[in-house]
Amino acid sequence: MPIILSKTDYILFRDCPKNVWHKFYNPTIWNESKLSEFEKAIIETGNEVELVAHQLFPLGVLIEGRGQESQIKTQDLINKKTKVLFQPVFLKDNFLAAVDILELQNDNSYNIYEVKSTTDVDKKTHYHDLAFQVNLLEKCGVKINKAFVIHLNSEYVRQGEININKLFKIEDVNEQVLNIKEAVAGEMEIALRYLSTEEESIGFCSCVYKGRSNHCATFAHSNPKVPEYGVHDLSRIGNSKAKLQELIDIGIFELKDVPIDFNLSLPQKNQIEAFVQDRILQDKYNIKKELDGFIFPLYFLDYETFPAAIPRFDGFSPYQQIPFQYSLFVLDSQNSEPRHFEFLYTNTDDPTLEFTKSLKNNIGQEGTIIVWNKGFECKINNEIAKRNPGHVLFINSVNARVYDLMEIFGKQYYVHKDFKGRISIKSVLPVLVPELSYKKLGIQEGGLASQKWNEMNLKSTSTQEKEKIIKDLKEYCKLDTFAMYAIWKHLYELVF
Ligand code: SF4
Repeated sequence: MPIILSKTDYILFRDCPKNVWHKFYNPTIWNESKLSEFEKAIIETGNEVELVAHQLFPLGVLIEGRGQESQIKTQDLINKKTKVLFQPVFLKDNFLAAVDILELQNDNSYNIYEVKSTTDVDKKTHYHDLAFQVNLLEKCGVKINKAFVIHLNSEYVRQGEININKLFKIEDVNEQVLNIKEAVAGEMEIALRYLSTEEESIGFCSCVYKGRSNHCATFAHSNPKVPEYGVHDLSRIGNSKAKLQELIDIGIFELKDVPIDFNLSLPQKNQIEAFVQDRILQDKYNIKKELDGFIFPLYFLDYETFPAAIPRFDGFSPYQQIPFQYSLFVLDSQNSEPRHFEFLYTNTDDPTLEFTKSLKNNIGQEGTIIVWNKGFECKINNEIAKRNPGHVLFINSVNARVYDLMEIFGKQYYVHKDFKGRISIKSVLPVLVPELSYKKLGIQEGGLASQKWNEMNLKSTSTQEKEKIIKDLKEYCKLDTFAMYAIWKHLYELVF
C-alpha cells in the first residue's frame, strides 16, 4: 500500500517501527490507549508556544492545513519570495512535512526553524526532526542555509510585558543536523519501505524488556502470552531493566514464578509476597510510631496548580506552577468531625497572594500538616515565598510541619496486593476506603483539574461552562483531601 510518511511518523518509527506499522494497519488497537490529559496538554502547549514564537518573525505568513491546497499555496509564496513562512507544507516522494518557520535569506536559501515547547534541545529527536525536513526540502529544490531549534528559556522571569526575545532561545544546530543528514535520508527510505509492507512483522517486541508504563496499546496484541499483571508491573522495574531482562530470558512472566532468592528490592519482594500469599503486610509498630508523632489539630491539605508554558504573571518562569486552588480538612482531635475549608481562584490575574492569605487564615500556628507527596506542595510553597517575601515566615512554618502520608506506604509499613506496587493516592484509596470513589466525578485526576482551570479562564468559555468547571474542581480537590483524612483514619483505627 503506498503510504505518506510524515515527519511525526518518522520520529515515531525511530522509537519503534512496529508501533507505527500498527498505526497505519491496525488503527483500532493503536488508538486503544487514549491520550492522557498530560499528553493532550503537551500538544496544546506546543501549539500555544508556536503561536507566541511567531512574534519573533513579525513578517511571517501562515499557511493553514496540510492538504494539496496548502502545498500549492506554499509553492506560490516561495515563488513570490515571501520573506517568512509559518507552516509551509512540502510533499515529495511520499514524504510530508509542515515546517514551523522558514525564513528567506539574501542568497535565496532559507533558514529553517523548529519550534519546541521544551526548555532545552532534545538531542534524541530534535536533530532528526530537522534532518528529515532538510532532506525533504532539498528534494523539493529548496536550498537550506542553516537549521535552528527555538525553545523556551527556563531562566526567563516575567516582569511586565513578555519580552519575546528573552522568553525564547534560538539555538544554531546546523552542524549537528548536517552530521546526521545522510543517515536520516537512509532511515527515511527504510521507514517508507517497512511501512509499505502490509504483512505484520512477526517476532520480538523489544518492549518485553521494559516496564508496563513503556508499553504501547498494541503490546497485548503482539505479546498474548504476557499476563495482564506480572513481572512487568513490579514496582520501579523500569529502573532496573537488567533484572527484568534476566527474568524474561529465563521465561518468568508471572509473579508467582519469581524465585524466592531473586535479587529484588524490598518493595518488589513485598509486592510479590502480598500477591502470591494473598495477604496484607502491616507493620503496626512503625505505623503507630509515625502517627504518634502527629500533633493536633491535623490539617489535611491538597493543592491544584497550572504550569503555564508562557508565564502569565510577573515573577513566573516558563512552566512555573500557578497555585489556583487548595482544599483543607482540619481535625481538632481524634474523635471530632473534620471541618472543611477551600479556596478556588476564579479571576484571571495572579492567584498567589489571595491563595496565601486564605491559607494563612485557615492554618493555625500549631499542628501537623498532612499532604500526599510532600515534594510537590513544599516546592509550590517555596515558590510562593519567593514571590511574596512578606509571607516567608508563615510558609516556612507550613513546610516545617508537613508530613507526607504517602511515606507510610513508601516505607512499606502497609502493603496490599491490590496496590499492585504503586503508592499514589489513586492506588491506595480504593483499596483502603472503597466507598470513596473518583469515578462519579466530572474531574478524576490532577492533570484534568489543571486543564479545566485554564479552560475556565478562556474568554470563549460560557458562564454555564464556568459554573460547571468550578463545581467539578471543588468536588475533585475536596475528595483528594478527604481521601487523606479517610486513609489516616483507617490507619489510626488499625493501630490504636
Ligand atoms: S509494545 Fe513496544 S516494541 Fe511493541 S509495538 Fe509497542 S512500542 Fe513497539
